Amino acid sequence: MSKESRKFRVPDALANVYDFANTLDLRHFTHHGVQHQQAEELDGPAGLGDWMKARGLVERGAVPSQKAFDQALRLRGALRDYLGCEPAERRRKAAVIDPLNKALEPFPLRVAAFGRDGMRLEPVQADAQAGLAAIAAELYDGAANGTLDRLKMCAADECRRVFFDRSKPGTRRWCQSELCGNREKTRAYRERQKRDAEA
Ligand SMILES: [Zn+2]
Repeated sequence: MSKESRKFRVPDALANVYDFANTLDLRHFTHHGVQHQQAEELDGPAGLGDWMKARGLVERGAVPSQKAFDQALRLRGALRDYLGCEPAERRRKAAVIDPLNKALEPFPLRVAAFGRDGMRLEPVQADAQAGLAAIAAELYDGAANGTLDRLKMCAADECRRVFFDRSKPGTRRWCQSELCGNREKTRAYRERQKRDAEA
């Protein structure tokens, strides 16, 4: 979990998936006259190592290989495309399911028993891949218990941030309705006015 996942009350069990998907920040809207700066947290193998270390996903000092880094970016891309689809759409759209399966291939998991703590999925490998496999395990758990359906991507083109939908009906489209939702509604209103004026 992170400050960001805490702030937006993302369940701890999905916090790594949420943070991982949001390591790419594509937001470029202007808020109170200030343009949001886009950012890439995973700017290389060392950056990925730091990110995983901060979340306890990797042993101290381990820097992932270039190959592991490439696999991580492929996984993040496929994950963002998957989360970018409505939950119902995710279940039938081969164009997002197939690449996600492909991107998950390098991260094998096994069932492990933990006595009183029951069982859970554990990474098979022990290297840098293990940290990313732990994210794959989170993804599986979220899909199994249904919480993954509430992990969505903001519908605003200039945002595309992944958020956790805490609304009762689970039909939220924007990461922050007072921000992204309002911007979209204002724009739609202006476009409508313009059309009416031209008609
Ligand atoms: Zn947004």
